Amino acid sequence: MEARELVIVGGGPAGLTAGLYAARARLDAVLIERLSPGGQMLTTDMVENWPGDLEAVSGFDLSDRMRKHAQHFGLEIVNNEVSAIAIDGEHKIINTPKGDIRCKALILCPGASPRKLGVPGEAELTGKGVSYCGTCDGPFYREQEVACVGGGDTAAEEALFLTKFAKKVFLIHRRDQLRATGILAERVMQNDKIEVLWSQAPLAFQGEKGVESVRIRRLKDNSEYDLAVQGAFVFVGTVPNTQFLDGLVEMDGQGFIITDKKQETSLPGVFAAGDCCAKILRQIVTAAGDGATAAFAAQRYLEE
Ligand code: NAP
Repeated sequence: MEARELVIVGGGPAGLTAGLYAARARLDAVLIERLSPGGQMLTTDMVENWPGDLEAVSGFDLSDRMRKHAQHFGLEIVNNEVSAIAIDGEHKIINTPKGDIRCKALILCPGASPRKLGVPGEAELTGKGVSYCGTCDGPFYREQEVACVGGGDTAAEEALFLTKFAKKVFLIHRRDQLRATGILAERVMQNDKIEVLWSQAPLAFQGEKGVESVRIRRLKDNSEYDLAVQGAFVFVGTVPNTQFLDGLVEMDGQGFIITDKKQETSLPGVFAAGDCCAKILRQIVTAAGDGATAAFAAQRYLEE
C-alpha cells in the first residue's frame, strides 16, 4: 500500500494552499483532486477580492496560478477520487478506485456544492434551463430573459454576470434586503437589466422541453403568478461535500466539519480547511488561510 506522511483531499484554494505550505515544509505530501484543481474558483468568472490583485482576476487564472505555485515548490497532485476513509490506530487509510493510501496526517478540503431548492420541476429541468452556474450556462441566454434565485454574494455576482448575455434578469429573493456584501448589492440595484423581485419565492420551475416559466409566490400576501423566462439559475447557498466521510469526524447539522483553531477535527491528525468547515465566512481568502493553518498544524502533529 502506498504510504505518505500527509494526504490532502481536494484541490480548491484550501487544498492548494495547504499543499503549497506542505511542499515548502518538505513534507512527503500528495494532493488528491477528482477534477481539475481550482474547485469553485473554476466556475467563478472574475475574482476581485483576492488581496493584491486590484485588477480582477478570472477564477480560472487564479486556479492555474495557485496550482503552478504549489507545484513549483514540489507538491505532487494526482487525479483520483476518495471514496472512503478508515482509521487504523494512528494511521488514516484513504480508499480510492486506484488503490489505498496510508498516511499519518490528513487534510480534508472537499469544498461545497450548490444547494438545490427542492421545488417541483427543478430536477427534471436541470440542464434544460435550470442551472447552478452562470459562468457555465450564461452564454446560452443571449437576448433572453432569465430568473436568478437567492440574495447572497453568489446570486448577486451571477445575476450581474448574466446581464452580459440576457436582456433581462429577474432576481427572486425571499426577503426585502439582499444578504450580498454592500458593493455587490449596490451594483445589482444600479443595473438597469436586473429587476429584484423582493419578498418572493419560487414554487416550481415549469416547461415541457425547457424552462418556460417560474411559478412564484409573493410572500407578503401569498398571491401566486407565473413569470415567463427561458432560464432559471439557483444560488441559494451550498452544501458541504462531506458525505463520503460517513460521519468519520464531528460535523454540524448541515454536514459542515467542526474544527478547532488549528483546523483540527474531532480526530487527532485529521484537519479540515475551506468551505467544508463550519464557519462564518466562505471566501477564497479564508479557504487559503485555513489551508495554511491546517498544513502548519499537520506538520507540528507529524513532528510530535
Ligand atoms: P449564502 O450566503 O448562504 O446565501 C444564500 C441566499 O439564498 C440567501 O440570500 C438566502 O436567503 C437564499 N436562500 C436560501 N435558501 C433559500 C430558499 N429555500 N429559497 C429561497 N432563497 C433561499 O450563499 P452564497 O451566496 O452561495 O454564498 C456562499 C458563501 O460563499 C458565502 O460565505 C459568500 O460570502 C461566499 N461567496 C463570496 C463571494 C465573494 O466574495 N465575491 C462570491 C460568492 C460566494 P436569506 O438571505 O433570506 O437567508
